[in-house]
Amino acid sequence: MRPARALIDLDALRHNYRLARARHGARMLAVIKANAYGHGAVQCARALEDEADAFAVAFIDEAMVLREAGILRPILLLEGPFSTEEVQRAAAFDLWPVVHHAGQLAMFDAADLPQPIDVWLKLNTGMNRAGFEPEDVRAAWLRLRDSGNVGEITLMTHLARADEPQVITTDEQVATFDAAIAGLEGPRSLSNSPATLGWPSTHADWGRAGILLYGADPMPDEASGLRAVMTLESEVISVREVPAGTPVGYGARFVTSRPTRLGLVAMGYADGYPRSTRDGTPVAVDGMPARLAGRVSMDLLTVDLTDVPGAGPGSRVELWGPQVPVNRVAQAAGTIAYEVLCNVKRARFEYRG
Ligand SMILES: *Cc1c(COP(=O)(O)O)cnc(C)c1O
Repeated sequence: MRPARALIDLDALRHNYRLARARHGARMLAVIKANAYGHGAVQCARALEDEADAFAVAFIDEAMVLREAGILRPILLLEGPFSTEEVQRAAAFDLWPVVHHAGQLAMFDAADLPQPIDVWLKLNTGMNRAGFEPEDVRAAWLRLRDSGNVGEITLMTHLARADEPQVITTDEQVATFDAAIAGLEGPRSLSNSPATLGWPSTHADWGRAGILLYGADPMPDEASGLRAVMTLESEVISVREVPAGTPVGYGARFVTSRPTRLGLVAMGYADGYPRSTRDGTPVAVDGMPARLAGRVSMDLLTVDLTDVPGAGPGSRVELWGPQVPVNRVAQAAGTIAYEVLCNVKRARFEYRG
């Protein structure tokens, strides 16, 4: 059997959720959109079902997968409904839609629900992506109320730069939010993962933790005590001894600068290991540090084993996990852990805990 696999540590997931909830100090959504950032939404929801206050996904199909798997907690739909029919379905399945643009207000006007449902009303406070403008939020709030289809209205906003502790944007967004919703009833929600860890001023009635659940620390100091949930690993298939000056892989991007032991690893970009990683990207071989050497191909990659003399065929290779932070791999690929984790596929998934 090909040894490429993604090991998912559900104890680590629960540890990270508890840490987020304790830091935030109030109710905490577990954000499991995009198949739980590539980790398996159903398995992650089951692991958290006893303690998560609620879950969040992007859209209704993602929520229905969880309902069909027997997940009973409320589920927030972060992109909200795309039609009146979806409003009806949200009501039938205890889903909480976000409402962030005028078209969605019309869907609530048009819906005919057996009983009102709770919604989250989103304000734009400076990210300028989704949400009502501060001056329009009161009208939106009243129109939802008047639709007769809405129960509790949670007021939310999303922070653009909470992973940058020295930047004042987050303070400005909090101030804009507070001013815009003054006098409106309802719970408040501002914090994503970085804000949960680094911005107590954003903590309110609900936090919304995503990436931190999976153990990729979004703050620059990476000192939050999170545990890696996914270990992407494989094995050395074969070893080749080559002299200095030997080109390795497509495009001969890597050329050895010394006599080198090259390890061939059963892992490639079709498994989700990014092709855009640079030579020298860290890996761990039998627990020892080693480096990527040469371009990643579809099914295979090569690592420099010269400094791991005991390593050979069958040696375990951690591409990321507890020893190699996925943040390092993402940096070496010019992207973020979010994208790297979402892209894992083909490799076998195994769950522990
Ligand atoms: C995805 C998402 C989150 C979670 O963000 P993280 O940075 O992963 O914690 C929170 N809120 C909204 C609106 C989102 O879309």
